[in-house]
Amino acid sequence: MKLPIYLDHHATTPVDPRVVEAMLPCFGESFGNAASSMHPWGIKAGELVWQAREQLAKLIGGKPGEVVFTSGATEANNLALKGVCEQYASKGNHIISVTTEHKSVLDPLKHLEKKGFEVSYLGVNSEGLIDVEELNSLIMDKTILISVMLANNEIGVVQPLEEVGKIAKKRGVLLHSDAAQALGKISVDVQKLNVDLMSFSAHKMYGPKGVGALWVRSYDPKVHLVAQMHGGGQEEGVRSGTMNVPGIVGFGKACEIAKENLEEDIKRITELRNDLLEKFEKNLDEIRVNGSLEHRLPGNLNMSFEHTESDAVLLGLNQEVGASSGSACDSEKLEPSYVLKEIGLSTDVANAAIRFGIGRSNTREEIEYASNKVIEVVHKLRLMTKS
Ligand SMILES: *Cc1c(COP(=O)(O)O)cnc(C)c1O
Repeated sequence: MKLPIYLDHHATTPVDPRVVEAMLPCFGESFGNAASSMHPWGIKAGELVWQAREQLAKLIGGKPGEVVFTSGATEANNLALKGVCEQYASKGNHIISVTTEHKSVLDPLKHLEKKGFEVSYLGVNSEGLIDVEELNSLIMDKTILISVMLANNEIGVVQPLEEVGKIAKKRGVLLHSDAAQALGKISVDVQKLNVDLMSFSAHKMYGPKGVGALWVRSYDPKVHLVAQMHGGGQEEGVRSGTMNVPGIVGFGKACEIAKENLEEDIKRITELRNDLLEKFEKNLDEIRVNGSLEHRLPGNLNMSFEHTESDAVLLGLNQEVGASSGSACDSEKLEPSYVLKEIGLSTDVANAAIRFGIGRSNTREEIEYASNKVIEVVHKLRLMTKS
């Protein structure tokens, strides 16, 4: 076993070597512009991009032509929310979302509120879950969009999206979901979930950074979007800009690998997560799991070690174990996570939270070492505060 141990797979994942290998030709002979359809270089690049569309579509049960490649899930979320609201503004101005969404959903919504849209924010219970009946009661004639994430980036809680999809369909409201944390970790089927738009990010599933996608339903109903990036008319005019062929090829390969490994990954990573939790429960008191354990990503464990501060614990790990407090995006701020506040934690308990993100490459040995190290540090810190 090698130190340090990476347990921060929600922030980003290592790139799978098979993904790197698939990308390499794009920096060599396959350097063409996917929009140059009149010569072999462009045709080759176009074929590679199409193959990646197929690989993603297969993983999610969609069609290759429904995939819009973007620079990541942040851009996909922006395109979905702003693109739908601008397109359907004549039908209404009301949006429903959730308080525990990622900032790349909440901030575009704030922007839309300034432009005259109204947003109802659903709260969550102490488990981090929304109440689907409450969501149903918020739908009005002027509601044009519902946006509910599939899996949360901090507490790993998986929302009852299939139920939301049924309601959205019945009430004739478009449904968007940020699935950046879910893709490749749990089964994601756009048909079963009845979503109309879904956002993805390659670097959260062993692909490269700077590439992602928005899946947009093409029938029953066909969803239209106002472009948010104007220029050369790529992606049928919805997202202009020369395609990131290497990134897209890597994303496609990561999808293919995820599909092959999904069942085994779920089983193995859930076991490792449960081992980690069991170690903590056996050796420490006054700890709590934040968010539902049942409706949760296999690799997520978000725990508060009461009477400690997460930053002190993380420092105490002496760079041997890479976990995080809050989400990577928020960890530079000193305020406690808004997600943990939303599930009802006091500031102290929220400030004592550590997010462990277990991934495909972690071993039992690593989990054993990391848990011992955390237990040792928590014991030490608690002794210091008592004396
Ligand atoms: C990481 C993440 C994003 C942002 O994805 P990028 O591709 O890094 O822009 C959005 N939503 C969730 C839930 C995430 O975890």
